[in-house]
Amino acid sequence: MIIDCHGHYTTSPRQHEAWRGEQIEAHKAGKPLPPRPPITDDEIRQSIDGGQLKVQRERGTDLTIFSPRAAGMGHHLGDATISEAWASACNELIHRVCSLFPKNFIGVAMLPQSARVSPKNCIAEIDRCVNEYGFVGVNLNPDPSGGHWQDPPLGDRYWYPVYEKMVEYDIPAMIHVSMSCNPTHHTTGAHYLNGDTAGFNQLMNSSVFKDFPAIKFIIPHGGGAVPYHWGRYRGLAQDAKLGLLSELMLNNVFFDTCVYHLPGQELLAKVVPIDNILFASEMIGAVRGIDPETGHHYDDTKRYIDQLPLSAADKAKIFEGNARRVYGRLSAIIEKQFAR
Ligand SMILES: [Zn+2]
Repeated sequence: MIIDCHGHYTTSPRQHEAWRGEQIEAHKAGKPLPPRPPITDDEIRQSIDGGQLKVQRERGTDLTIFSPRAAGMGHHLGDATISEAWASACNELIHRVCSLFPKNFIGVAMLPQSARVSPKNCIAEIDRCVNEYGFVGVNLNPDPSGGHWQDPPLGDRYWYPVYEKMVEYDIPAMIHVSMSCNPTHHTTGAHYLNGDTAGFNQLMNSSVFKDFPAIKFIIPHGGGAVPYHWGRYRGLAQDAKLGLLSELMLNNVFFDTCVYHLPGQELLAKVVPIDNILFASEMIGAVRGIDPETGHHYDDTKRYIDQLPLSAADKAKIFEGNARRVYGRLSAIIEKQFAR
């Protein structure tokens, strides 16, 4: 089985995102929030059939670990109540996709975060998504301010209520920022990669893994700048007397393969142990074009993995085995959803 651990519902029915716009407008105007629009099963089917499902089939992947549109989380908009209503609507929609296509999608939750609001307010949504929806992970935004970095670093006890839940449920968090509202940081060109790199570095300089030995994080987009600068982080860990970086991080931190060219994948597989790499493409996502050098979509990342000089056993780890290990509930949910 080929499991893509990083996909977002970027093709959701139009009224869903339209409602978000109305919700924010109503909040700004101090008016009551508009009711959620009806979305039919057929509208959901259409949005998936011609979108992510079509691409899965074309590229030969089987299952996508699926979460709400990341840039659309917009944790900097409105307030905590607005974020709660929006996260609830987005997660419910993911649950409906997984119910309509149980063999192709398994859910991951967005959290109702807000800048400078304790992540304690995310606990009820995590409970709901795991217990009622069968979700297997969460996306944790290290910067709910949208590019201004107003919350404490991920090593701060501020985040521990979420970490306690992650360990309790055996669910990993993907460290994933949302839209940038800071014009100096382009959302997908800079802010995402900054978030990945900063998140890794914040965890490295913390005692999170001493306090939560079983916790697991996925750094998306190939780990941002981290694998390329692995020597820098090894040296920084050494200078700070943190011990060996591999021993410090690699029981708890994993990297996905959302790297959109072969040389980048070669570097990732050379620097990071195979046991710490999870297949992902983030389709249909940030980069949708075709690479004129290869004639294939940039985000068709399976092609790059296929070309790596690795054994079949190692490729099976990247494509399936590691995901089943990192997402502790995944195998049980696969069994449950496939039996439907
Ligand atoms: Zn993403």
